[in-house]
Amino acid sequence: TKAEGRHGYRFFDVSMQRLAQSRWQLEEGLHKAISQQELELWLQPQVTVQGVISGAEVLLRWQHPDKGMISPLDFISVAEESGQISAIEEWVLEETLKKVKSWQEAGLPKTFRHISINISPSHFMQADFISRIEPILKKYPLDNIDVEFEITENLLIDNFAQATKSMKVLQEQGISFSIDDFGTGYSSLRYLNQLPINVLKIDRYFIAPINTLEDEAPIVDVILLMAKKLGLEVIAEGVETEVQRQFLAERGCRLYQGYYFSKPLHHGEFYAMICRQQVI
Ligand code: C2E
Ligand code: CA
Ligand code: CA
Ligand code: CA
Repeated sequence: TKAEGRHGYRFFDVSMQRLAQSRWQLEEGLHKAISQQELELWLQPQVTVQGVISGAEVLLRWQHPDKGMISPLDFISVAEESGQISAIEEWVLEETLKKVKSWQEAGLPKTFRHISINISPSHFMQADFISRIEPILKKYPLDNIDVEFEITENLLIDNFAQATKSMKVLQEQGISFSIDDFGTGYSSLRYLNQLPINVLKIDRYFIAPINTLEDEAPIVDVILLMAKKLGLEVIAEGVETEVQRQFLAERGCRLYQGYYFSKPLHHGEFYAMICRQQVI
């Protein structure tokens, strides 16, 4: 239980002690997670207005031997703060490319065109970020499938010059970029037409309130209009209902991701599903 002080602050009580302890356990556990093969790639389809799966986002899961499945919301920040995020995301990149390459060899619908990977700002800003991922990209060249890095606005705000430089180098290696959770960070519009950005992902915060086709969603309208003017693609995140899909389709948003189509799936299940090309 939270012991809330009279003036609103919390005391360092038993529950906080437990929190610190479990954080430390996570940090220790993460060291072993890669070598013990406890991390798993899950994928969530990205679906076009025609209902075709044109890509997927890779979402990491940690299958802990005692604690069961741990959400990335609970361990990514620990990985960032303990300096383990680079090793983890390099693993994600390599495993993803390896997997997609093997799927291509086994047979993958030609309509599957891109794979998105989340890159943490603290990983992206490592001095050796590019030199460490280049060999991975070279090792698994993918034909006709774009590799997209999802980054957040805050990365650009805090490190504009260096981030810009790295993005341009990576663009030359064939990487494309999307802005994740667009609209929720400290947006600066100046970067949008200066950087090699291809896609804006509208955060589900803006999609969730849409209940009927008559609703108003001014932020969604503005993002779609701006993207159109700038020649950017838009993916709506967190689409959970047919009404939301239709609402977005009527406004020209042609790509969707969300539980309405599919939750994230274990990579094996994802591959089986995409071979059947069946969503909802
Ligand atoms: P995100 O990048 O914004 O990913 C989307 C999250 O929304 C995923 O949660 C996904 O399962 C969830 N989601 C998708 N559709 C719906 C929907 O219709 N409704 C609702 N309520 N939720 C939906 P997940 O998989 O728990 O991942 C949480 C966050 O963890 C991700 O948010 C991302 O920020 C982070 N994450 C996951 N894998 C990685 C990684 O490899 N590297 C980094 N840096 N972050 C990662
Ligand atoms: Ca993402
Ligand atoms: Ca997102
Ligand atoms: Ca998010």
